[in-house]
Amino acid sequence: MTDRYRVIIVGAGPAGMFAALELSRAGVEGILLIEKGPDLPERQRLGRGVSMLSGWGGAGAYSDGKLALSTEVGGFMRRYCTAADLAALVERVDETYREFGAPAELHGSDAEAVARLQREAARLDMKLIPSRYRHLGTDGCEKLVGRLRDYLGGRVQIRCATPVTAVLAKDGVACGVRLEDGGEVAAPYVILAPGREGSSWLALEAERLGLRTAINPVDIGVRAEVPASVMEDITRATYEAKIVYYTRRFEDMVRTFCMCPYGEVIREDLDGLYTVNGHSYAHRRTANTNFALLVSKTFTEPFREPIAYGRHIARLANMLGGEVIVQRAGDLRQGRRSTPGRLERGLTAPTLKEATPGDLSLVLPYRYLANILEMLEALDRLAPGVNSVHTLLYGVEVKFYSLQLRLSPSLETEIEGLFAVGDGAGVSRGLMQASASGVLAARAIATLLAHRTR
Ligand SMILES: Cc1cc2nc3c(=O)[nH]c(=O)nc-3n(C[C@H](O)[C@H](O)[C@H](O)COP(=O)(O)OP(=O)(O)OC[C@H]3O[C@@H](n4cnc5c(N)ncnc54)[C@H](O)[C@@H]3O)c2cc1C
Repeated sequence: MTDRYRVIIVGAGPAGMFAALELSRAGVEGILLIEKGPDLPERQRLGRGVSMLSGWGGAGAYSDGKLALSTEVGGFMRRYCTAADLAALVERVDETYREFGAPAELHGSDAEAVARLQREAARLDMKLIPSRYRHLGTDGCEKLVGRLRDYLGGRVQIRCATPVTAVLAKDGVACGVRLEDGGEVAAPYVILAPGREGSSWLALEAERLGLRTAINPVDIGVRAEVPASVMEDITRATYEAKIVYYTRRFEDMVRTFCMCPYGEVIREDLDGLYTVNGHSYAHRRTANTNFALLVSKTFTEPFREPIAYGRHIARLANMLGGEVIVQRAGDLRQGRRSTPGRLERGLTAPTLKEATPGDLSLVLPYRYLANILEMLEALDRLAPGVNSVHTLLYGVEVKFYSLQLRLSPSLETEIEGLFAVGDGAGVSRGLMQASASGVLAARAIATLLAHRTR
């Protein structure tokens, strides 16, 4: 017999967890939260390397936990709500994170230091987007998602290790989901929150259901690692600086992303494909700071496959290195590969020990490489030392935010009762906006449930 609920949420990352929390606080009963990855204790037992993106807490569980208290970074929620509404959502989400253990301390509140850096960046043709951050750290994230698990455990039905394979809809109206074992679960409202882990699945489902999509930019680049002192002026004032630059050569946008002061470069395993990322701990420091340098390119028709394009480039790095590749910026500029000996002689010790010394010019297309090298030169004027021969570049970092579903202001898709939130739906790019999007959809559903009989 088919189980029946009032709301089904697919994906237990920040977007899904916050949707569940908001619905349950609005007094909605009959909520089912389905997660394809392992539950938290199992995830902890398996270790961080195994399930970075999938399982209770989603990618958020082992993220760096920088909560951006801003309407300008971390996603595209401004497409769906006004700046004032988004600011109110950010405040609400921040309060909830605080309630579940996020620290009181705020980074980036030194307005004078931030303004000075902004002026300096503007003089150098760069835009520095300031934001205040609460930093949970990877260790703090794990604890916080554990508390959310405990709270939600008594209020909503949770099924982990249960992949959803299909969305069920009849005559343009959502009616449930199908599970991997063939079983079906019914509900008039379904929230899809599958994150990056599930973005390819969502793209296939959107096509099957006839949902219209737009193509988001493809963000491809490297993760740079430098001694923490090189970035200290910036990271002390802003903690995480978003710096945007348009290259002279191509007029493409290159930006810094996910800056991790005193952090570690880490490897991401995307179904057997290795890419890079970064994180840092609240209570443990390394000697280095790392950040992504991403080139954003929007391709034109007939191109339809940004995910496949990004994966293809990441695969090239894996093919050459058997792994993620690391190269000193000096070697890259001299047109030679890095070797274990050259790395050994470098002044920056890599925090990702498994990376294979190699040559990124054999991996990244010319346009990406030229843009990255030009961005390093530009950044070096703001933070001298960034473009040193010893700077380490890990490749590749790819952001698969490729699918952008057509959504209403309450994040409902073109199928009635089917909502899509978080990173997987192309709505967000970070914890804050992912969580806020879950809250927005949940509020809309709570209102619909209060007024409808469906
Ligand atoms: C290493 C790292 C560091 C990061 N650091 C930061 C940071 O400091 N600050 C910041 O703001 N953001 C950071 N992020 C990004 C942040 O983690 C994401 O933006 C956020 O987790 C997105 O939330 P989400 O709920 O949309 O998706 P996710 O957190 O990706 O969760 C989606 C969940 O859905 C599940 N799922 C997918 N498909 C299905 C299916 N078919 N059936 C059932 N379940 C499914 C997945 O298994 C996953 O658990 C970081 C990410 C990484 C990987």
